[in-house]
Amino acid sequence: MQPPVFRFAPSPNGRLHLGHAYSALLNERLAREAGGRLLLRIEDIDRERCTPENIRAAIDDLAWLGISFETPVLHQSRRMAAYREAIVTLMEMNLLYVCTCTRKDLAAFADSHPDAPRDPEGQPLYPGTCRRVAHMFSADSALRLRMSEAIARTGPLTWNEKGESISAHPERWGDVIIARKGIGTSYHLSVVIDDAFQDVTDVVRGDDLREQTAIHRVLQTLLGLPAPRYHHHDLIRHDTGRKLAKSKGDESLADLRAAGATAQEIRTLLGFG
Ligand code: GLU
Repeated sequence: MQPPVFRFAPSPNGRLHLGHAYSALLNERLAREAGGRLLLRIEDIDRERCTPENIRAAIDDLAWLGISFETPVLHQSRRMAAYREAIVTLMEMNLLYVCTCTRKDLAAFADSHPDAPRDPEGQPLYPGTCRRVAHMFSADSALRLRMSEAIARTGPLTWNEKGESISAHPERWGDVIIARKGIGTSYHLSVVIDDAFQDVTDVVRGDDLREQTAIHRVLQTLLGLPAPRYHHHDLIRHDTGRKLAKSKGDESLADLRAAGATAQEIRTLLGFG
């Protein structure tokens, strides 16, 4: 039997903070307990925000914490060809459409329709403006998933959450973006492709991504990818960090290090002592 495969997959669009450290340490612990492998994936599809400095700093902070990941580290910015291929597959299934709505358009719609349905994060669902318009795809547009047609193909879905079967409700998200304007992919698309590419069997990540797993299950099913097991953990609240931090809200690992914290202190603080 192959050992289970865990991964920590930060998006280094700033410095890593205690929440990242918790997630990475929990991955490390669960991988060790399961006799599994531990991978690091840098989710840097947003090249503007995930600067080389932030990426270097993230890798350095994790090394400082004493977590060892297998090499090589996978960078999503080098995986665009794989994402494009999946987009073509979804296009051939007629499940994507071009959306030219701007943030401003969507905000105006939300203002004028205060009772319009909202997603699990409280954001207004996409009203479907571009659904029936054949726009040309360009760097200025996004691609959205025809969610109800996608669900009609997949049928009801579940995911394995710490051994329990959870019913997925992707319809709550509406026509999600699959390729972002100017980026050419999205978190949702890239994460499912790379979890499969890296043979990940166990996804351990923050509870803020729990509901989004429904979208991941739809994409995995449409693209014929295996479903990993999921473990969504509680998020670290600010107060924990403030005990060690120099000033309120000052909780990046770099700040804590600069304030004299040791890696062992961070591990102990987060319950991994
Ligand atoms: N890159 C995502 C983030 O930092 C997490 C991805 C995942 O674990 O699925 O929020």
